[in-house]
Amino acid sequence: MSERTTRRTGESVLDRSGANARLGSAGRTDARSPRTGHTRRTGELPSALDAIEPLLDAARRVLLCLDYDGTLTPIVARPEIAELDVATRHLVRELAGLCATAIVSGRDRRDIERRVQVPEAFYVGSHGFDVGGPAEHRLALQIGEPYLASLDAAERLLRAGSARLPGALVERKRFSIALHSRMVARELLPAVGALVDEVLAQLPDLRREPGKEVIEVQPNVAWDKGKSVLWLKDALGLDDALALHVGDDLTDETVFTVLADDGAGIFVGEEERATAARYRLRDTEEVALLLRRMIPLLRARTVGRAGRTAG
Ligand SMILES: [Mg+2]
Repeated sequence: MSERTTRRTGESVLDRSGANARLGSAGRTDARSPRTGHTRRTGELPSALDAIEPLLDAARRVLLCLDYDGTLTPIVARPEIAELDVATRHLVRELAGLCATAIVSGRDRRDIERRVQVPEAFYVGSHGFDVGGPAEHRLALQIGEPYLASLDAAERLLRAGSARLPGALVERKRFSIALHSRMVARELLPAVGALVDEVLAQLPDLRREPGKEVIEVQPNVAWDKGKSVLWLKDALGLDDALALHVGDDLTDETVFTVLADDGAGIFVGEEERATAARYRLRDTEEVALLLRRMIPLLRARTVGRAGRTAG
């Protein structure tokens, strides 16, 4: 893989992933992520802590995908203070040496790289629109590039409009803009949604994606965290690998859904809702416990190392 160069921009990558089937001849449609496959309730899921040993036993190779906020670090009121603790960083680093490991986040890719600081890992930022890896892999995907001018315009409009909405916070990422409403008074929340509608009416090549107390404005293209994980799996030549994704947010459902047949989604949290995940962890402490448990299991076999060399 190290000699393989995978650098694609814009929509050209869609041909390879098959995602263009949804785009139509215009190349752009209302491309909301499919919300299929939510066949289970989070409360009924078995613990991933019990399942991990048989899962890894049955797998030839492993691709481990980890969300950041609410998964590796507890959710905090202000996202800028969500730091990774040293013990968890060591676990991630050790795992990245044993199997292909990716951090998959809605955050800007550079931001997430700075916070995690594991050079051996792959990083998927801006909800899948921006993928990068260790230098020797020369792997990059920047699917949002053709939308940068629209994103810049949307950022200006959202900043101007949010000035009249106390507590609203605009966060610009390279290929996505988050309008955070966690600190907005309840009676003003409809106005936050209306502001986004107003902006999107002027910029039809962008769309909204709801999250936990946040609205994301993204390129209106059929792409999401789930598709980016499949792209990464393919780009790393890990077709036969067991892909695990650990995440807590609604946007993680796009990954749980694509892994429903040949991988496993692991939902983190106490929230009761429909999900495409197969297993569950209660909180970030259980996530750390799972990671700790995986290390000797992966180390005990050469298969884990095969995942790394092939990746
Ligand atoms: Mg999260």
